[in-house]
This record gives sequence, C-alpha cells and structure tokens, in this order.
Amino acid sequence: QKFVYDFTEGNKDLKDLLGGKGANLAEMTNLGLPVPPGFTITTEACKVYLESGQAPKALRDEVSAHLAALEERMGKKLGQADDPLLVSVRSGAKFSMPGMMDTVLNIGLSDASVAGLATQSGDERFAWDSYRRLIQMFGKTVLGVDGDLFEEALEEAKAAKGITVDTDLAAADLKKLVKQFKKIVEAQAGRAFPQDAREQMDLAINAVFDSWNTDRAKLYRRQERIPGDLGTAVNVCSMVFGNLGPDSGTGVAFTRDPASGHQGVYGDYLQNAQGEDVVAGIRNTVPLADLESIDKKSYDQLMGIMETLENHYKDLCDIEFTIERGQLWMLQTRVGKRTAGAAFRIATQLVDQGLIDEAEALQRVNGAQLAQLMFPRFDDQAKTQLLGRGIAASPGAAVGKAVFDSYTAIKWSRSGEKVILIRRETNPDDLEGMIAAEGILTSRGGKTSHAAVVARGMGKTCVCGAEDLEVDTKRRRMTVGGTVIEEGDLVSIDGSTGKVYLGEVPVVPSPVVEYFEGRMHAGADDADELVAAVHRIMAYADRVRRLRVRANADNAEDALRARRFGAQGIGLCRTEHMFLGERREMVEKLILADTDDERESALAALLPLQKADFIELFESMDGLPVTVRLLDPPLHEFLPDITELSVRVALAESRKDANENDLRLLQAVHKLHEQNPMLGLRGVRLGLVIPGLFAMQVRAIAEAAAHRKNAKGDPRAEIMIPLVGTVQELEIVREEADRVIAEVQAATGTDLKLTIGTMIELPRAALTAAQIAEAAQFFSFGTNDLTQTVWGFSRDDVEASFFTAYLEKGIFGVSPFETIDKDGVGSLVRSAVEAGRATRPDLKLGVCGEHGGDPESVHFFHEVGLDYVSCSPFRIPVARLEAGRAAA
Ligand code: PEP
Ligand code: MG
Repeated sequence: QKFVYDFTEGNKDLKDLLGGKGANLAEMTNLGLPVPPGFTITTEACKVYLESGQAPKALRDEVSAHLAALEERMGKKLGQADDPLLVSVRSGAKFSMPGMMDTVLNIGLSDASVAGLATQSGDERFAWDSYRRLIQMFGKTVLGVDGDLFEEALEEAKAAKGITVDTDLAAADLKKLVKQFKKIVEAQAGRAFPQDAREQMDLAINAVFDSWNTDRAKLYRRQERIPGDLGTAVNVCSMVFGNLGPDSGTGVAFTRDPASGHQGVYGDYLQNAQGEDVVAGIRNTVPLADLESIDKKSYDQLMGIMETLENHYKDLCDIEFTIERGQLWMLQTRVGKRTAGAAFRIATQLVDQGLIDEAEALQRVNGAQLAQLMFPRFDDQAKTQLLGRGIAASPGAAVGKAVFDSYTAIKWSRSGEKVILIRRETNPDDLEGMIAAEGILTSRGGKTSHAAVVARGMGKTCVCGAEDLEVDTKRRRMTVGGTVIEEGDLVSIDGSTGKVYLGEVPVVPSPVVEYFEGRMHAGADDADELVAAVHRIMAYADRVRRLRVRANADNAEDALRARRFGAQGIGLCRTEHMFLGERREMVEKLILADTDDERESALAALLPLQKADFIELFESMDGLPVTVRLLDPPLHEFLPDITELSVRVALAESRKDANENDLRLLQAVHKLHEQNPMLGLRGVRLGLVIPGLFAMQVRAIAEAAAHRKNAKGDPRAEIMIPLVGTVQELEIVREEADRVIAEVQAATGTDLKLTIGTMIELPRAALTAAQIAEAAQFFSFGTNDLTQTVWGFSRDDVEASFFTAYLEKGIFGVSPFETIDKDGVGSLVRSAVEAGRATRPDLKLGVCGEHGGDPESVHFFHEVGLDYVSCSPFRIPVARLEAGRAAA
C-alpha cells in the first residue's frame, strides 16, 4: 500500500484517497499549470493513525523519499540554514470542510534558517514575520497553546509602538516577538518550539490527522451529513510567498459569478499579503479586475488558466492563487459552490457552450435547489428580531397578524387582513382557518403532524413544533421568553428555516412559481433568464424520466394547480377532507345513527355531495388517472373533543338543561374513544364495520365517472382501499364495490373501467403482498403509515419529542418520515414490489406518502421500479426533476 503521492502522480478522480485539495492540486500539476511542487499523504494513512493512534510504519520512509525528491527539484533542503526550503502542511478531506481542520505554514524555519531566509529574500522583516507566524500557528494547532496568548502579545507589541497594523512592525520588533512566542510555547506546552525541521513537519502531519476529530469538525460533518470515517489527506507543499513586497500578493477567483452564473472576472486580490491576511481582514482587498493594472502579465496568465480550468472541469471553479515577485502560483482549485439560481443558469450555459450534455446538466442541479427557488423568501438584507425556532415544515415566507383560533383567522382574512394562525397544534377543525391564513405556526408536532402535512398540501408556509412558544389560546396570546405577542401583533415565519420573527420582515416573490403557474414567460431581464434555465432543465428531466408524477390533491383547485405544475394525475385524494366544515354534522349523524333507517338517510344525504366533489375532480383531471381513497381516519376525528364535550355536558346537567343530542354525542365519543386511534378503527376496518359507508363512496365515484362519461369527458377513476393488512379485508370490500359499480354501469349504460387497488401501509400488507395482489389492481405505498408502523414511531409525536436527540446522536441523519429509510421501510417496499408483480405482472405501483416528493426518496422509488410517485402540488416540479435525474 502506497501512502504518499507526489502531485505529479495523482488526479482529480482520486478524492477518496487524496482528498479534494490534493486530487485537484495533482490535476492542475498534470495540466501543466504552475503549482508549487509537493506531495499528498493519503486518507488511508490518516485512517490507520486514527484507529491505532500511530501513523503507519511505512509512512516515515515514504515521506522521506518524497521529501528528498522535492528537495532535489527545489535545489534546497527543508530548513537548510543558508537557504531553507519551507513547506505548508494542509488538511484536505474528500468533502470540503471550510476552516474545520488545521493548516501550518512556513515549516522549516528555525533560529538558524530564519537568517538564510532573510538573506535569500533580501528582506529581514519578512523572514522574521514568517518565523513569528510559524511559531504562532504551530503553537496553537500542533502544541495546543491558547491562541489568544499570541494575539495578546502581538497587540501589546503594536500598542507599545503606537501602531495598529501588523505590517508596521519592524524586523527588530518581530525578533522580540519571536522570543516572546517561544517563551509562551515553552510555558504552555511544556516543551521548546522544535528547531528540527523534519520534527516540525512530522508533528504537523499528525496534528492534521488529529484535527479530523475535533468537536467542531464532528459537528460540521453531522450537519453536512459527511461520514465520520473518511479521514483527511495531508498536503505538503513548497511555500510561495505573497508577502514579499508590492509585486507579490494573494487572491481568490471564480471562473464565473457564483451568485448569478454569469461569466466574467470575479474575485478579490490583496497585494503584499498571505492567505490568512485576507481571512483576517487586515486590509481591504481590491476587485480582481484591478490586478490587470497592478500586474498585467500575471493577470493575463490567470485569465488563461481560468479558461483552461473551466474547459477542463466543465464547471464553475474557484481558485486560490499567490503571486510571488511577479510569478503566479496556483494554490488550490475546486468545483465551486453556487447559489440555487446560479446552478440552473450555469448548467444551461455549459450546455450552450458545448461543454456538457443534457444528461450531465441534470446532475448539476437538484430538487432542493429547485425547491429553494420556488418559495417566496424573506429579504435577507432586512433587519429582524428573532423570536424562536421550530421545525421547517412547509417552506416559504409568511407575514401576518397573530391569531390564535380558526374563527378569528377566517373573520380577519375576510376583512382583508393577512394572518398567521398560531396554535399549539392543529386538527381538522382548523382547516378553514389554515386556508384563510398566510402561514401556520404551532408549538407542537413534527414534519408529519396535521399542520405540516396539510400546509404542505396547500403550499402554505408552516413552522411547527416551535417549543419555546407558549401558546395560550384562551387569552389569545403567546409568550416567548419575556416577550408577549398578543392577537393582532405582526409576526413573520420562515418555513424554510423554521425561524419565527417578531414584526414584518419584507418578502420577495418567486419568479419560478410565476413561471410554473403560467404567469411568466422567457424574456430578457434577470428573473426571466433564471426562468428560461429552469424551463430548459425541466424539459430535459421530463424527456428522460421513467417515473410518472402525480399529485396528492383533494379538490379541483389543487388539482388544477397540480396540472399546471406538470402532474400526470392524482395519486391520492383523501376523501376525509371532503367531510369537514358544514358536512361534519352529516358525518356526525351517520355516527350517531341507531337504526338502519337513520344510517341510510345519513348516507343518502352525503352521496350527492360526494358525487359533486368527484365530478369536479374528474373534470379537472380529465384524461388522467385519479386515485380516490375511501375514508381513512378514525371516526372520532369528526366528533367533538372528549374533554370539551364532557365539560359542556356536565355544566348543562348542573343547570339541568342537558340537551339530548349532546348526551348521545358524548356517549358516541366515549364509545369511539381509543387509546391508539392510529392503530384502531380506521381505514378498511371502518368500511367493514359501518354498513354502507364504503358503498356510498364507491357509488359516488361511479356515478360521478358516469356523469363525466355522458358529458363526453374522460374520467379515469381508481378506487383505493386504505390500511389493508390482509387480502380477506380487501376481498370483502371489493365484492361490495364490484356490485355497486355494476349497478351504476347498468343504470347509466356506461363502461367505467374503474380499477380497485389498495394502499400498502402496514408491514403485514407488505409482507403478504403476493396474496394481496390477487385482489388489487394497483398498490400505492403509504410510506407515512408504513414508516410509523415499521419503526413503531408515532408520526404525530416523535419529531417534536425525541428526534432532535436521535439526530444529534447520529442514529439517523434525517427523519425517516422525511427521507425513506431504505434499509428498513425501503426493503419492505422493494420486496412488496417484487412479490406483487410476481402475482400480477401488470400491477400498477406508486407511492403517495410524503416521501413521494422527497428528492432522495424519489431516486429510491425509481430504483425499485415504481410506476409513479405522488406528492403535494408544490413538490411536483421537484419530483419531476429528481425523477429525471434518477433516470439520466
Ligand atoms: C400514508 O400513510 O403514507 C398515506 C399517504 O396516508 P395518510 O398520510 O393519509 O395516512
Ligand atoms: Mg396512511
């Protein structure tokens, strides 16, 4: 095994082994660009060091050999007294972890060689300043000395001379500082600053290895989801100096603007300085374009190199360079980070330049970037007052007056006020209030809580589980720390970050949504250029994707929007949403029915309403499939809250005017009360125990389809049975449904071609998919309930209660309710797909859980061979894009 690679031996594809920096330094070296010579110690060496506490045995000799070759090439030896070779020792992991790990510059300087450097450079001040920097950096990062001690000494030295900038310190001052710094090292580290250059280098290499595991590096990796066992490479590079006078300097450059994507000269330059001076902001940098008048030769050369790099990497590159006495050196390059908008622009620009093809363009953008472009944003220049933070449940930026109940939300919004509905948690009763509000804020609940799911469905901004907020509905106010927010006070919520602000933060609308809505077309100004790029990328994605994309939508308005956004049907219409508001009483009647007659008349009253709903829905999705799910939630969701009702009845009884209906209601509420309603009487179980309920819904679907057929429409309804655990349940429901459909077809003289299928959202359903497929024409994976039941995680509670702790402990990097848990839930999906298709080769397969709109999950569903994903209307473009990326 080889642990050290010369820059001439590596290449850009060896990032696993050489880290990003090392691989790119090698690539530039091989391109013939001016890179100071050096070598890279591999991440494998780091792994051995981290596991055993010691560098691999062979490393020392390998480093010696590469160092000897380097010395040979440079014509001087490391730390040589009369003309020292100096090197930098820099970390460089596979993924960039800016500022997280260590770097030591000027290795090779000592009491002896500092004089040699002074002679060679002809600059005594420079030599002593370099030595001072080495002791400071080495002391801090290698020997663990508190960096403030050096800074304080430096400040004192400046104060003693009455100066404020480092560059005003003379050689004699720096000599004194070196003495002081060495004393600090000795006192703090219990050892002298090493005078042996090789010892300096070896200690620095180990320090870089160690820096992989500092707390801040670990934290950063957890946040960025970088695996903890990759280790870092170490780059040993001959030093070049940007601080040798006015003909020297250092800078950063981008091959195009990382904010807009436009080509041009972007970057900063600082004359007579080293890299860390730029970071420290000691002096102000000048725009890169100014370099042309400072040093035309280097500037022209740099422009040429930038073009070479862009053509070679076929992407935006960022660059660090140094000019040493008129000689340009490349210190680093990498494919640069960019804003979401620039990612889309750059991808299409590169296609136009012939550098990449459309398939590659799709890999240059992602769904998260598209989602970012779709939400209105708070103006990031605005001054804000942060109140607290919750879960970013449904992105967007919403501003409005605080209201604490649905009734007020509706009333105020009718009179033209913008409101934010603030609740401890929401329930189906709040729906109208949620529709009326600009945004929803709750202090409880996670990403799949009622508030979150419904808000996402509506494309409405939502922050949930903001636990610092004490919501007091009765007194119509909330308190956060010492601040009291009364009804009517302005608040702003950011559903992309979970931040909650006091007062009004200004909002800017999204041109990309205007485009999807058909309100904006290609043109000339900046926003339209972005829209044109998004338009083209979406066209590429649509051309290559195999997965179809449907919408979760319950009404014509959502369905029409979904269609504008590119939906190819409805994958989930949750019919329970049709029984709210005024219709709730009718459901109540159904639940309270004592006799068959009462029940039948309740159902008969609901039938025409359901039918009208479906006619509208089928019309809005004419020609496209619409999956209608029969009633799913436990019935108590349609009844009043047990505590509230008990209190009301008790009070009425004490006044001796208890009303008959309330008493019956209370009885029913008690009867239907369940400890675990999510595992209780819901889904297909309702259909099996409430006679006539599913039949009524099936009849409404069939009659609506027949109506549309007779109106020359093209309805394509699919009937879906929820929460099936065994094929017998499905068979019983199907028998009845088939009978009802046959009746309607006969009565209307139509052939409706209705299909009947089931959700796969219980482990048992997934495990017995082969049997279930006998009775189902399609499967739609309900990954919300499937995740809940496979993990045993209550989807309404866990995200707000202990997921933070789980995420912090790294048990998972992201909530399994957000991104499909491939190993657990996903493997059940995979085997159910195989088993279902084995039974019924033409089985149609989709997913309608929240995961259907999650980028990573979409790739998984592509891979296991589903036919479609279904997601909320606003996530459709993201799903289209990711389906395209998965197939490209
Ligand atoms: C699911 O469980 O994944 C699903 C789509 O159904 P619901 O969220 O309505 O339970
Ligand atoms: Mg479900």
